[in-house]
Amino acid sequence: MTHHILVCGGAGYIGSHAARWLAGAGHRVTVLDNLSTGHREAVRWGELIEADIRDREALRRVFAAQRYDAVMHFCALSLVGESMARPYAYYDNNVAGTLVLLEAMREAAVERLVFSSTAAVFGVPQQPLIDEDHPTAPINPYGASKLMVERMLADAASAYGLRSVALRYFNAAGATPSAEIGEAHQPETHLIPNALRAAAGSGDPLRLFGNDYPTRDGTCVRDYVHVDDLAAAHLAALEYLAVHPGAHRFNLGNGEGFSVLEVIAAVREVTGRDLPFHWEPRRAGDPPTLVAASARARQELGWTPRHADLAGIIASAWRWHAQPRF
Ligand code: UDP
Repeated sequence: MTHHILVCGGAGYIGSHAARWLAGAGHRVTVLDNLSTGHREAVRWGELIEADIRDREALRRVFAAQRYDAVMHFCALSLVGESMARPYAYYDNNVAGTLVLLEAMREAAVERLVFSSTAAVFGVPQQPLIDEDHPTAPINPYGASKLMVERMLADAASAYGLRSVALRYFNAAGATPSAEIGEAHQPETHLIPNALRAAAGSGDPLRLFGNDYPTRDGTCVRDYVHVDDLAAAHLAALEYLAVHPGAHRFNLGNGEGFSVLEVIAAVREVTGRDLPFHWEPRRAGDPPTLVAASARARQELGWTPRHADLAGIIASAWRWHAQPRF
């Protein structure tokens, strides 16, 4: 059955991959984006409405003009370090903006939402693998803003019957096989794109933040998950909501952690380039380790990551970064 999906933040990295995935499954896509960090060129699978989710009147017009079966919500400021320096911007965009969107959805009787959440809701993990029952204690405003929305969604489920799935991404990476879209942040703060830009000679010299963490080599450990696997999970979540009322949460990762130095070694291997770097102090807000237990997503959503291999994820990102289209 074809659905019409409003993809808020569909000009951004994960949102544009999800839009491609939805269109590939036969759904109709409309993207809403303020283009503050997204790219017009990344909107290729549906029309673009240029609007900000904090603009109540604009959202009313959007929902009055068309009937949407569901919303996917990717609009967010999403950088841990920036959130430590500019917390108000994070609460304004990620919390207040989402509230405006939820109210507009309610007025228009749109009752299904797939929401981009994050591993940053957990804070410092108490066990090696983080499942959905792990306590949530974010250590940065970014994670706190996403956790607040998860709470709003739980309250909206019981008060208004909103159906939602919050997908807690671990570290998104990679690009579509054809490299027609990919990761393009300005400024770029993420490890894999920064390492690949440095390898391509197009970025700043690579800086690594902290070698005194309580991990196997002193650098932070993360669970890198391919952006197309995340996109596929959104489609599965949409289908899940057709038969499951309530507010649901799933952790999305491969269940294997790689240290910053292991990522650097893999980037050297994939690119065949030397990769000089220098050490900097720890970056504020970074937990030492974040690795997902995603059994629940596998069981309930039927989600199976297809690109679990780190070198393969980096190779797909390298195809994009060697020749980015925007
Ligand atoms: N990192 C780094 N140099 C960079 C970017 C990131 O050393 O240029 C480190 C960062 O401190 C963290 C890990 O790489 O330990 C992953 O950071 P990223 O920003 O990619 O994702 P996050 O886990 O913050 O979502």
